Amino acid sequence: MEKKEQLYEGKAKKVFATDDANLVIVSYKDDATAFNGEKKGTITGKGVINNVMSNHMFQLLEQQGVETHFVEQLSDRETVVKKVDIVPLEVIIRNISAGSFAKRYGVEEGIMFTAPTIEFSYKDDDLGDPLINDYHALALGLATQAEIDQIKAMAFKVNEVMKDYFDSLNVILVDFKLEFGKTSDGKIVLADEISPDTCRLWDKTTKEKLDKDRFRRDMGGVEEAYNEIMKRVMGK
Ligand code: ADP
Ligand code: UDP
Repeated sequence: MEKKEQLYEGKAKKVFATDDANLVIVSYKDDATAFNGEKKGTITGKGVINNVMSNHMFQLLEQQGVETHFVEQLSDRETVVKKVDIVPLEVIIRNISAGSFAKRYGVEEGIMFTAPTIEFSYKDDDLGDPLINDYHALALGLATQAEIDQIKAMAFKVNEVMKDYFDSLNVILVDFKLEFGKTSDGKIVLADEISPDTCRLWDKTTKEKLDKDRFRRDMGGVEEAYNEIMKRVMGK
């Protein structure tokens, strides 16, 4: 697999072309941002943890029948994935109130929902990723109804698999963000990453935050939290 020109540099990853038009290489950085890029920093070792953990989660999900973009890990920070056209929706699943949900609806964090919720944000940095509903996504031509239905079903399935998995690690899966993409043959697959950058993860016993909220909220112990999740996920 030959790594060719850089196609894109995002806030947390770079994407490179390969000699196969259907494959790209993603390279995970230690750069951290929050509040739509307003807050910037570095979390040492984050790129390695997010790469290895995402690949572990994608393989677990594949085993449970969820198709993903994962192909092959190349190194600590680099992975070959299927090149997809990203559906410009951030798909957020919540099991417990936190973050923007708690703020928007004026409730405390930590309320356990009787059933998980789903919401979409329009993936557009210039607009600040505004909340959007199915009708708006259809009106803007971001996806078809059939694609939206499939994305919702896949996202809830991911939640069921991940909730049980994290529970076995003594971790509560509070909420998380997913991205989906379309392969060259038109199939919707799970893409991007699943990591402490994109999930809220609380220790089940102490309720300690083991995710990017420690960076967002200047709580300290950021690297330690990422290392702790890595240790529980990878057993090292
Ligand atoms: P951002 O663009 O939000 O700053 P990243 O730094 O994580 O985010 O950049 C990675 C980019 O690659 C994102 O825009 C993401 O949607 C995109 N991406 C993720 N998986 C794939 C894939 N399989 N094929 C093409 N693009 C992808
Ligand atoms: N999230 C993400 N990227 C974003 C926005 C949110 O990965 O651009 C994740 C975030 O880590 C959390 C979940 O989605 O696990 C819900 O985030 P929320 O809407 O509460 O937003 P935030 O608190 O980040 O403003």
